[in-house]
Amino acid sequence: MTYRAPINDILLALNHGAGLQAALAAGHYGDFDGDITAAVLEEAGKFAGDVLAPLNKVGDEHGIKLDDGKVTTAPGWPDAYQRWTAAGWNAVSGPEAFGGQGLPLAVNAACTEIWSASNVAFGLCPLLTLSAIEALDAHGSEELKQIYLEKLVTGEWTGTMQLTESQAGSDVGALRSRAERAPDGSYRIKGTKIFITYGDHDMTDNIVHFVLARLPDAPAGTRGISLFLIPKFLVNADGSLGARNDIYPTGVEHKLGMHASPTCTMTMGDHGGAIGYLVGEENAGMRCMFTMMNQARLGVGLEGVGVADRAYQQALAYAQERRQGRAVGKEGDGMDPIIVHPDIKRMLMQMRSLTAAARSICYATAVALDISVRAKDAKVRADAAARGALLTPVAKAFSTDIGNEVAYLGVQVHGGMGFIEETGAAQHYRDARITAIYEGTNGIQSIDLVTRKLAANSGASVWALLDELSAIVKQVETSNDPAFGTTGAKLRDALGSLEHASKWLLERVTSAPNDALAGATPYLRLFGSTLGGCMLAGEALAARSDRNGGDPQRYVAVARFFAENVTVQAGSLEKTVTDSADAVNGADAVLLG
Ligand SMILES: Cc1cc2nc3c(=O)[nH]c(=O)nc-3n(C[C@H](O)[C@H](O)[C@H](O)COP(=O)(O)OP(=O)(O)OC[C@H]3O[C@@H](n4cnc5c(N)ncnc54)[C@H](O)[C@@H]3O)c2cc1C
Repeated sequence: MTYRAPINDILLALNHGAGLQAALAAGHYGDFDGDITAAVLEEAGKFAGDVLAPLNKVGDEHGIKLDDGKVTTAPGWPDAYQRWTAAGWNAVSGPEAFGGQGLPLAVNAACTEIWSASNVAFGLCPLLTLSAIEALDAHGSEELKQIYLEKLVTGEWTGTMQLTESQAGSDVGALRSRAERAPDGSYRIKGTKIFITYGDHDMTDNIVHFVLARLPDAPAGTRGISLFLIPKFLVNADGSLGARNDIYPTGVEHKLGMHASPTCTMTMGDHGGAIGYLVGEENAGMRCMFTMMNQARLGVGLEGVGVADRAYQQALAYAQERRQGRAVGKEGDGMDPIIVHPDIKRMLMQMRSLTAAARSICYATAVALDISVRAKDAKVRADAAARGALLTPVAKAFSTDIGNEVAYLGVQVHGGMGFIEETGAAQHYRDARITAIYEGTNGIQSIDLVTRKLAANSGASVWALLDELSAIVKQVETSNDPAFGTTGAKLRDALGSLEHASKWLLERVTSAPNDALAGATPYLRLFGSTLGGCMLAGEALAARSDRNGGDPQRYVAVARFFAENVTVQAGSLEKTVTDSADAVNGADAVLLG
């Protein structure tokens, strides 16, 4: 089934739910002309539908091959990549000084959703390049930027991000790759990285690897990690490609999904050591890597949104065609499309509304990150940075959980055909699975939310957000629109639950850390479903006066469904946070007995 980017839904979420329009009006985006957003997204939708979507199944079926130290991608992929860069899609939010278009991250976030929906395994490659650009731009020396940044921004070369080793996954500080200082100021790196996405491929002439390694005299743990830029081919003074560097793919993984995205074991040092250049300062690599990871975490959240939307579109189309049974009350022969059945309607609305909520949360994160660097006022920038930091783990984990749930429902709507590869529903389900694991598992995101983001300023970022959400709920309550049903009451209760759970966790995060950690995952879910519910309600209110919106009552219906079916679970999530720590921490008798 083909893919159509839901431009109206995207624009509503971006402009209203995520607050792009208000930020533009407040002048936080300088001279960026918000009117071009729709045109950019229309073109992105066309490119995704025409070029990327048709390759999604091809990539899944062919996968990739490693032969003689070289990875070959699926048929049509190198050509699609060339068309991608030629059309300028790699450069959407890249810095203008290095060949980028300088558009807001928020606009690129919407594009990332579109690439992920059409072909998530393809979109993953530029997603990581974008993170590499951010890290190099923020922390690299002028010399490194001059040589590498433009090629990465245009997409002529791609970037990788190399943290993981077999003994160092979530615990990055355990990594053992070694870096030795060389007399010319460069470094020689030896070690083995695993699970490296697009560690090698045939879509570009060169690949720029960003690798974490340890100097001989480095302190233990994460305080002794440095970041190195290691090109696949060294670059001559005139910019031409030189010798092959000592970093090779020595294995590729066979995976549940994302077959078209190479996941490589990368070996450095079989020929004397890979030549690398320091990014940032020695032993300060984690700081640089966090720049990359935060960007990538939002990107992976958008993968969740994209896969969810694709799965929804496919399930909706199937439900309109497949005929089984009769609608209650209908007489005579024949069968109705399954979409008449309340259980199918429930699943489709669940899919649609979960996707919409995750989308708004991701876009709001992008807007906050934009304002944190673009606004003139330092206080506005600092507040936006705190908001972006708070929302990043929610954007990543909530949205990728949603991607999985929606893809699961997509299979269910298809019945037996969902389990058969032919329909494509199964591919979405398989592809979605990794998004909850890489870029920091969703468990690690929940821990980040509770122990760092909530606790960072004694909850101030959360209280500020709750105030804003409360104002939206008030508007729903006073709108007197019966179509909202019990939305206002459900959201009001959820805000109370989120506030209570936040306070409970804050009181324990240092005094009883295991109790706080036991509640981290349900807390993130409570956070996402409360935030998402309020955002959807805000969008539904805004849709009435938005010229792009289409029928505003559709958005009221989506917001209502979400509040009454998803946000309504806030009360039990709150109880799970506050009442289940003993059961979790007392589980050793069961698990270890
Ligand atoms: C397809 C694919 C692509 C990838 N791409 C890249 C890439 O490009 N670059 C790269 O560097 N890495 C990449 N990775 C690695 C990925 O980021 C890691 O797999 C992930 O971070 C988890 O690490 P791990 O697999 O070692 O799991 P582990 O760290 O062993 O975790 C196992 C389980 O324990 C939990 N856990 C671990 N520590 C804690 C803790 N302190 N508290 C609570 N729970 C904990 C985890 O949440 C998880 O549920 C990729 C992996 C895959 C499968």
